[in-house]
Amino acid sequence: MLARAHIVRVLHLTSSVQQLHRGTVQPASLLSHTPTYSCKASASEHGVSETITTSIEASRQEHSSNGACTSSKGLNIEKKKDYGPFSAPFHALAEERESYDCWKFNVDMRKKVFCNRSLNMKSIVAMGFDMDYTLAQYRPDTFETLAYYGTIKKLVFDLGYPRELLDWKFDWRYMVRGLVVDKKRGNILKMDRHKYVKVAYHGFQEMSREDRLATYCNTLTRESYDEPDYALIDTLFSLAEAYLFAQLVEYKDSHTSKFPFNTEYSTIYCDVRAAIDLCHRDGTLKQAVAQNPAKYIHHDPELIPMLKMLRSSGRMTFLVTNSLWDYTHVVMNYLFGNCGTDGGSPRDDKWLELFDIVLTGSAKPGFFADGNRALLYEVDIRSGMLQNTDNGSPLAQIGQSSSDRALPSSTGEIRQACRVFQGGNVGHLHKLLAIEAGSQVMYVGDHIYGDILRSKKELGWRTMLVVPELDKELQMFYETVHLRKEFRLLRNQRVSLEDKIQRLDWSLRFEQLNSCDHDKIKVEIKSLEDQRDKVRELHRHAQKLCHQKFHKTWGQLMKTGYQNSRFAHQVERFACLYTSQVTNLCHYSPDKSYRTREDNMPHEFEDCNI
Ligand code: IMP
Ligand code: MG
Repeated sequence: MLARAHIVRVLHLTSSVQQLHRGTVQPASLLSHTPTYSCKASASEHGVSETITTSIEASRQEHSSNGACTSSKGLNIEKKKDYGPFSAPFHALAEERESYDCWKFNVDMRKKVFCNRSLNMKSIVAMGFDMDYTLAQYRPDTFETLAYYGTIKKLVFDLGYPRELLDWKFDWRYMVRGLVVDKKRGNILKMDRHKYVKVAYHGFQEMSREDRLATYCNTLTRESYDEPDYALIDTLFSLAEAYLFAQLVEYKDSHTSKFPFNTEYSTIYCDVRAAIDLCHRDGTLKQAVAQNPAKYIHHDPELIPMLKMLRSSGRMTFLVTNSLWDYTHVVMNYLFGNCGTDGGSPRDDKWLELFDIVLTGSAKPGFFADGNRALLYEVDIRSGMLQNTDNGSPLAQIGQSSSDRALPSSTGEIRQACRVFQGGNVGHLHKLLAIEAGSQVMYVGDHIYGDILRSKKELGWRTMLVVPELDKELQMFYETVHLRKEFRLLRNQRVSLEDKIQRLDWSLRFEQLNSCDHDKIKVEIKSLEDQRDKVRELHRHAQKLCHQKFHKTWGQLMKTGYQNSRFAHQVERFACLYTSQVTNLCHYSPDKSYRTREDNMPHEFEDCNI
């Protein structure tokens, strides 16, 4: 532990993820040197501009020649086939998809886009995408495992944690999004939409009902369960750190002597956070991904067709990612089929053809904040060097006349080569894309806090959340229909038994009864109470069984008990649309008008007897 003071200082210097995620820090380059802020040639001077324009034209002609892209109106609607919720017309009809008319078929349940807030895509002028865990789906079994072992190494070799941590194993399936870490108590919690804690574990040990209620429910003040005492596991990047924290909590409880006197759980959490943060920043993760992207990222063959479809529909497309240019280039190349490693095709700039603006190192969610004055630099994609801009407009350098540099189009009418930037804020992006109202922009991301919340709340952007877990969740949802019906019935039975008991109890206490009736009612109450206890047990058991089908420990992602989970509540509030993967957009016309279902208050259900 001797090295702790030094390394903590180093880790603090590189800053914590909170700062990155809250957007107060500009990340430094990880794959190459940190870009210097000098002036270099623009992308168009390298001939990229011409290549891109030609390719966009070619792809446009290609699409318009098959006549399928501009509108769904001209499509031949085939006879409706019933594929059932889990049939796979999408996979079977790859050829049709090539011509972008796939949205005429029933969509596999797991690939549907769900709508919380009605959205007419015709009003969307620009479609933006986040990169990590949105366009690029990491494989948690390899990527999170890499993060886990990288973090352990830093804890052991830099922070002086015991060497036996190096033998620990990681179960990448254990943690799920939506959980909350209680840093001070060493607990992991799952709560419902009212922030009522329904499941609580200390390390990996489930807390008894009594302990849980005493700690979180029967308290005088209501907790907000937010930072700094609590951490939300709201991104898939956090699964490894939550797991490691739970392991360390158990380890500390049983090996007190291995920690300096009075080490608190929250100190351990800070160490884990700082170590994993460093893994993201010092190249531990990014170098490994760059060497073998196929090992860490799923390849999605629908991605290019989807982007082409959106562009052919006339929309501008942009990328806003917290990753820096060097890593973005690696990942996007891989997604576009260029591994860039031995045996794979070399990296090139072709992927840029499908975007108007690429904005790296964006430091979301600070990027969306009103007071954000971050400077915007243009990236020289050849050297990775940054050049100053005047709010996005090229700055003439000494020895170079301003007419040497093409000004960006402000009308958006003429598609020009994609420009790549680092930093800046949402105002810069609006200006570069000539956006007039926030409601003209749709942004697709995976992180409620980083991508969706501020962009929707403060800018009025329309949002789509990618929830990869939804795939399995939906499958289970349909597989457990009968179980859920069963426990709903049991719940109703329990309510009606309780009502009966209370009515009889009232009679017993306040009505003038003769002793015979009095005794009769007492017996009846006892029998009803026995029934109620049995039904309550059956209900609990059926509900637990059903939840366990989704996840052995944490149950259904979108539910806690029978209420929406806190995670589901956030999805409902902040994401206009949500879906299991970004390329599900392929199944729908780019002009689709998504409509939300009718709102229903509880009394309306009563009324309709639903
Ligand atoms: P985005 O999702 O495309 O905006 O990019 C997310 C970026 O944040 C990736 O480069 C991640 O490596 C990085 N990232 C995720 N978690 C952390 C962290 O804890 N510390 C620093 N960077 C992180
Ligand atoms: Mg992301």
